[in-house]
Amino acid sequence: MRETVEFRISEEKARRFLAPEDGKPLGRSMRKLVLDTNDIRYARVERVERELKQQGLYFFTYWDIRRTYTKKELEAAELFSLNIRNAFEPEGEVCGTQYDESVACPHCGFGARQLNELRLEPGSLPRGKDITRTIAYSEILFSARLVTALREHGITGARFLPVLSKNGRGTIDSWFQLEVTSRPLGVAPATRFGLNPFDPDEQGEYRCPLGHVAGLRILSELSVRREDWDGSDLCAAKQYVGYRSRNGGAFRPDPLLLVSQRLRRLLGELKAKGFELEVAHPV
Ligand SMILES: [Zn+2]
Repeated sequence: MRETVEFRISEEKARRFLAPEDGKPLGRSMRKLVLDTNDIRYARVERVERELKQQGLYFFTYWDIRRTYTKKELEAAELFSLNIRNAFEPEGEVCGTQYDESVACPHCGFGARQLNELRLEPGSLPRGKDITRTIAYSEILFSARLVTALREHGITGARFLPVLSKNGRGTIDSWFQLEVTSRPLGVAPATRFGLNPFDPDEQGEYRCPLGHVAGLRILSELSVRREDWDGSDLCAAKQYVGYRSRNGGAFRPDPLLLVSQRLRRLLGELKAKGFELEVAHPV
């Protein structure tokens, strides 16, 4: 496995703390720096970030972890995290999807119940993708093409629900909403969560005291409890990430989805688009 982290750093701070040849300019005021986590400069970014944080400042304004695998590593794995990086708006709630917030956790917003079919603006759905989500995160969509194939192959662990257009009259035939029906997998302690690669959120600002949400972001590969896995092809971890935006904003806690080796192969054969897979570890 090779792990790289992309950082975006203001040109002003890049000049202070990086060499001129480090990274690539993104416009005039920003620099993009992609580093292998074994690179000695990665440790330097960590040091600068920690120093600046003590002064109430920060070094980078954006970060993103990518992991790549050899074919052998992919073939040997049993489970994979399914990461959906693309998202669109408007989300369901502003298109007439109703949620019962009275059953949601008061700390983290987990567990709000969707009361009717997901309703969306038909023109807002992305083209050329098979898996997508709204910015509300918990609203995950699979293309009709993909759903047909998953049903033909007897893929287990999920139901696919119809999606209606905003006015609630017609269905959007080309997409379905994912509902994971398999047993949730408890997150194993090897998994790290936090605010950024160098900040494990020691105060637990984004950890639900009742255990629904494990942190703002996942920082490591996902490890899950093997004994919880019912063998389904599509699963979700028991703990979520992210947060419920206050004052009725769009964001909701974000499920961590997992797929089996069998489903990974099928997604590959179908050349399905709109997601990335990372090796996950049942332990
Ligand atoms: Zn909670």
